[in-house]
Amino acid sequence: MIQFELEHAHGHGIVLPELKIGLDTRFSQHLIQVISHAHADHVPHKTKRPILASPATIDLMIARGFKGDYEKLDFYTPFETDVARITLFPAGHILGSAQIFIESEKGNLLYTGDFKYPASPVSEGCFFPEKPIDIFIAEATFGLPIYKWKPQEFLDKSIVDFAKKHLNNGYTPIFLAYNLGKGQEVMHALAKAEIPMTIHDAGFELCKVYEQYGFHLGNYKKLGDSSHQGRALIIPSNALDSGSVQKISKQKVAYVSGWAALEARRQQMIIDARIPLSDHIDFYELLRVVEQLKPKKTYITHSPNPDMVCYFLQKNGFDAQPLGEHERGEDS
Ligand SMILES: [Zn+2]
Repeated sequence: MIQFELEHAHGHGIVLPELKIGLDTRFSQHLIQVISHAHADHVPHKTKRPILASPATIDLMIARGFKGDYEKLDFYTPFETDVARITLFPAGHILGSAQIFIESEKGNLLYTGDFKYPASPVSEGCFFPEKPIDIFIAEATFGLPIYKWKPQEFLDKSIVDFAKKHLNNGYTPIFLAYNLGKGQEVMHALAKAEIPMTIHDAGFELCKVYEQYGFHLGNYKKLGDSSHQGRALIIPSNALDSGSVQKISKQKVAYVSGWAALEARRQQMIIDARIPLSDHIDFYELLRVVEQLKPKKTYITHSPNPDMVCYFLQKNGFDAQPLGEHERGEDS
């Protein structure tokens, strides 16, 4: 089997020393560095060699200020090294997000990065290799039985209903959602209902990349531009206290996140609605994916409770163990 090690104690980055490959590693030394997606907790701080990632991931990274060298690798197109073959499969998490499939003489390994199945509607879908998997390294951000996501149609309707109700009453509906991924999911739902939107400035350039890749995000403008009257506002949580948002006198706030499924979060934030839309796989789908792939060995990572997932996998006859420590990502 392929040997691997964590780059450091916080569970970020996986190194395959014999193959000289790094997966979401923060510092490239003598490695071919492959990046699963453009969220900040997966993107390197420094690069000494070109990184390898999907074209949309590279374009999103550049839109966020990445200045290093890169090579774009299309999904399903193998990249051959002296000792390994690297292939990207869509991960369904955000635009460009990839699962990284490594094949070598010693076997294969599939690293999910952050992934969602069924896929986010503003992603390229979620697809797995058809070959039998030896090592499966899966993230389990929401690895508890309390996390079972509602159908996409239900969540989209919750977003549209919240916006319409408060617009009709003269309020500005504000959706708290991350600039990359979640924001575009909210926009995609509102666009279908033809509701005009205002977007946080940092998210605006990222929306342009989504549109380049064929995703319709509707009628939107930047937060910095004029009035928000009659428009839904989409901003990250930390922008709620900013001057331009504070001055909107009549506002109603919806928190859009997988964490919104937790009642406790309501008490932590002054909000009018919680919409539990996540861009990660839920507990039950994760178990189903392992059941479908039947890997020889599964490692669970990026989870606050990996032992719980491993317990259920082991009960179903799978060889599973936790990997690394949990650290909350940029997204959820
Ligand atoms: Zn992510």
